[in-house]
Order: sequence, then C-alpha cells, then structure tokens
Amino acid sequence: MSVWDRLKGSEAAARLRVQMAGSEGAHSWLLLGPAGSGKAAAAMAMAAALNCKVAPGEGCGDCRECLRILRHHHPDVHHIVPEGPLIPVGVVRESVIPEAARSPFEGPFKVFIIEEADRMNDEAQNALLKTLEEPQSDTVFILLSEHEQELLTTIYSRCRVVRLEPVPEERIVEMLTDEGASSTQALLAARVSDGDLERARTFALEDATSERRRLWMSIPRRLASPVDALDSAAEVIAEAKEVVKRREAYQKTEVTDLAEAMGEGRGTATARNALATRHKRELRRVEEVILGEAIQSIASFYRDVLVIRAGGPEAVANLDVIEELEIWAGATEVSDRALVEIVDRCVAMRATLIRNANAPLQLESLFLEIARLAPASARVGSGW
Ligand SMILES: [Zn+2]
Repeated sequence: MSVWDRLKGSEAAARLRVQMAGSEGAHSWLLLGPAGSGKAAAAMAMAAALNCKVAPGEGCGDCRECLRILRHHHPDVHHIVPEGPLIPVGVVRESVIPEAARSPFEGPFKVFIIEEADRMNDEAQNALLKTLEEPQSDTVFILLSEHEQELLTTIYSRCRVVRLEPVPEERIVEMLTDEGASSTQALLAARVSDGDLERARTFALEDATSERRRLWMSIPRRLASPVDALDSAAEVIAEAKEVVKRREAYQKTEVTDLAEAMGEGRGTATARNALATRHKRELRRVEEVILGEAIQSIASFYRDVLVIRAGGPEAVANLDVIEELEIWAGATEVSDRALVEIVDRCVAMRATLIRNANAPLQLESLFLEIARLAPASARVGSGW
C-alpha cells in the first residue's frame, strides 16, 4: 500500500509522486484543480512522502508517521483552513510564520498545507510571501486552490504549480469497489459527490455520513407546513452540533496522543498551543461543512425531480430514493419553476454560508420557502 493509492488514475498525481520520490522537490507547491480533484489527498500524500520513515520519498501509508499524517494528527504537518470567509493575516502571522521558523518536532520536514489558499486576503498573502521567498531547508508549503485568479502573481510565481483534474464517475466506482464498497453503494457515492473522490469515499465507507444522508433525504417529504419547516431546520442544526461534539471528543484523544508522543521535552507547550488553535478553527468549520452538505443534498434532491420530469432518469444522482423522486416528479401541483427556484435558493444559501453568522435563521427561512413552493402535501397518493 502507498499513500498515493488514493489518487490512482490521476496523471497529475502520478507525476507529482515521481517528483516527490526524486530529488526535484520544491519548498512551495501550489495544487490547483476543481473540488474533488484530490488536492487535499495529494497534499497529504506529499506530507507523508516527506516524513515517512519506512518508505521515504514515497509514503508507505502504514507506518506511525503516515497514519498520523493521514488522520491530521502529526505535529509537523500543519493544516491551515479558512475561518469564515477568510484566512486572515493574523493566522499567517501567528500560526504559520513562527512555526515555519522552528525546527520540526519529529520528522525531517515541517509541512504547511494551506487549504483554499485564495481565501488569504492580499495582506495575508503578502505576509506569507516573505516566508516563501526565504524557505528553510526543512519546510515545505503546499497551497491548495480552485480559484487561481485570486492568488497574487507573486505567490503564484514562487510555487511549483500542479494541476489536478476531477475524477470520472467510472473511476470513482472502480476505486470504491476495490476498497470494499458494494457496486450500488459505489455508484450512489460517485453520483452524489460530483466527481469529488474524497467526498465519495467518505460517503461510501463511513456509516456516520450515510446515516446523515438519510436525514437530509427525508427533509423534502416532511416540509408540509411552516411548523414542519422550523422543526426540520432545528433538526438539521442539532445534527450539525452533534457532529461538532463528536469532533470535540476526537480532539481530546489528539491532545492525549500528542502528550504521549512528546513527553515534556522541547517545544511541548508550543505544540500544545498550536494544536489548541487548530482545534478551535476546526470546530468552527465542521458546522459549516455539515450544513453545506445538508443544503447541497436537498438541492440535488429537487434537481433530480427536474431531471426525471425532463425524461432523463439515467442522470439521477440520488439513486437510493428514486421511488420518492418519481412521486415528486408526478406531483402536478408543484411546477418546474418552483423546483428551479428551490434549487437556486439552496445554491445561493450554500454560497453565503461561509460569510454567514446566522446560519440557523437562514436555514429556517430556506425551509419555510421550500414548504411554500413544494409542500409535502402535494405528493398525492405517495403513501409515505
Ligand atoms: Zn510511512
């Protein structure tokens, strides 16, 4: 097994793998590509290749180093993610620059993975630039972005650029079945994740995610009245909070692991602080991710109803609820226009979620709107 197995079939990843194994490594990388093209998986594979002791330059995928990296659990691999809409300059100044100047705790390399690097504003990008210009020999930066036009050209020109492509449906199905998913599960996962391999994988192989999906898919048939809308919104929010809680419990184990790994030696307090900061950021993000998942799933449900009405059932994404979709497709009281409006509203809310301090309120108003445009009572003779 290798950390690169997860990227099987991607030519860009194959080239990257060769570069990591050889002596042509760089200190700053920029991985570009649409959602689902495997940027995060590639960044983790790179971090593992840099720090694996069993297969240096490759990443065995099985050793303690590789496993902790893959679980976001390694003290030398730092993940920087946006807080709300931005990666503020403060994060670059506090969590990146001083950390980059220290020597690694354990491995040969410190790795900074900056997700959605385009969400650094100019000030943050300029602050980072100085560090990129004078790289330490044991530091590697991996910037990920799907909006390269929002990166300063100075940043862009400092990095070695790699472009990753979205993964085709057949390939996702093939990989997931190889990894133990049934073919039905694999196809559903590929369809609902729009070529996003990581999402498809979580979906096919993690029970919690498919459990949640059952809740998301039940929403349309429950939105019969304003009261139902408010109840359903409350339930979705509660689910998101539950995931936050589980993540918190997991974070506690990370703190214990770190303490065990480091003892009371050099840099313990620093590592502990860095971990605490990362944890806080992570929790803020988890809720946003879960609500986004809910809205996206609900949008795809109504989009599927339109797809069936347009006579293209083979293009349906939510194959596991096809009977329910057909019932909605036959609900003459609900016009195509109402369905289009629902999808548009979901897409709009999904886009503003990251800037939104009051997501619960937004979600309530979205569900109220759906209950008005496509009340569950319109599904005549459904028997649900
Ligand atoms: Zn390894």
